[in-house]
Amino acid sequence: MDFDLTTEQSRAKSEFRQWVEQCVVPVADANDNREQTPPELIAEIAANGYLGALVAKEYGGRGMDALTWGLLCEEVGRGSASLLSLLTVHGMVIQSLAKWGTLAQRERWLPKLATGATVGAFGLTEPNIGSDAKNIESTAVLQADGTYLLNAEKRWISFGASADLVLVIAKVGDKATAFLVERGMPGFSIEPIRGMLGFRSANIARLLMRDVIIPAQNIVGKVGFGFSHIAGTALDHGRYCVGWGCVGLAQAALDAALSYSGERYQFEVTLNKHQLIQEMLAEMIVNVKAARMLNYHAAFLKDRGDPSLIMETSMAKYFASRVASQAANAAVQIHGANGCSSDYPVQRYFRDAKIMEIIEGSNQMQQIIIAKSGYQQHLVNKRAARRSAAEGEGR
Ligand SMILES: Cc1cc2nc3c(=O)[nH]c(=O)nc-3n(C[C@H](O)[C@H](O)[C@H](O)COP(=O)(O)OP(=O)(O)OC[C@H]3O[C@@H](n4cnc5c(N)ncnc54)[C@H](O)[C@@H]3O)c2cc1C
Repeated sequence: MDFDLTTEQSRAKSEFRQWVEQCVVPVADANDNREQTPPELIAEIAANGYLGALVAKEYGGRGMDALTWGLLCEEVGRGSASLLSLLTVHGMVIQSLAKWGTLAQRERWLPKLATGATVGAFGLTEPNIGSDAKNIESTAVLQADGTYLLNAEKRWISFGASADLVLVIAKVGDKATAFLVERGMPGFSIEPIRGMLGFRSANIARLLMRDVIIPAQNIVGKVGFGFSHIAGTALDHGRYCVGWGCVGLAQAALDAALSYSGERYQFEVTLNKHQLIQEMLAEMIVNVKAARMLNYHAAFLKDRGDPSLIMETSMAKYFASRVASQAANAAVQIHGANGCSSDYPVQRYFRDAKIMEIIEGSNQMQQIIIAKSGYQQHLVNKRAARRSAAEGEGR
């Protein structure tokens, strides 16, 4: 595995960093306070081509490789976890359409998603159903004219309040199916949600669909592909973005802790001269590095199209979200009362990091998946060892 960035990737990383420093960091706290990402910032991120970063060049996107995209998510996550979630959910729609959409769907939507003329969101979670997503209660009923009558309530939808196009998972009979629901369709309404712990500027919304008529051409993939294909693709992408975003968030917490502990005097020395503070800093430094390495590994596998990518991405997301949470917690501790005030961004990191442990499959869900996969791998290794021992005896 090669950790060196290509010249192009290094150039892209500096570009992302510069943009985040100039346009995201200065407004992140204000947006968090007013609980909104304004349309101008969405327009700006779109103008840089970041909303279309993953769209193929033939559809007007930047066609970024997985590692470059990861670097973008890391930088944006460093500036604002809420803004990162725009890249995440918008990308979930793009990736689902790119992989499972018909030619007509790709030609209609990808160019608009690439420029940000259309903002995408992903609607899976419902009031009664979160982790146990296979038991969603939203329904779509096939009508005599070939359209579907959709009744759904989706909650906690990131950038749902800004979205023009929502990828909604609902059941046709007992078959989970993905539908493209367009803003303005009769019966589709959007209610912004305020007062969240974190991701406060993620324009979160409750989406209501009451007898919305959906044309059959708005199904992505086929009836029954909702989980097995579409949500699988979307959530894998989501976890990849969140894993990288957590590295950025953890790095922001670490940078803040290093800076503050080098300037603040207690007991006549700066905080960073106290060994208990050094312990916290050392933990943060090593953990951030380890989280970054796991995400590099996931990127390496993604760019190679390696099937083990899905499990590695789960591990990267799981570990990085824990690291982000621990790092933000330590950063607040190191800042003392200042860390609890709105004068410093570490309280935002702390609140946003908690969300990272819940979204795109909570950490408990990741633990279950990782433990199961670990056991399967153990059985594979045991079988391989037995086979090679038997071959050895036969020689
Ligand atoms: C800020 C924010 C943004 C979000 N954005 C979106 C979005 O854009 N689109 C979308 O569809 N959803 C979104 N969500 C919803 C998110 O995906 C869910 O919150 C998540 O899947 C967990 O579901 P839940 O909240 O219903 O918790 P539940 O599933 O009710 O779980 C509650 C707790 O129990 C644990 N738990 C559940 N089952 C088990 C088990 N078998 N074993 C052990 N522990 C278990 C969970 O880990 C969790 O800690 C968002 C949520 C937040 C907070």
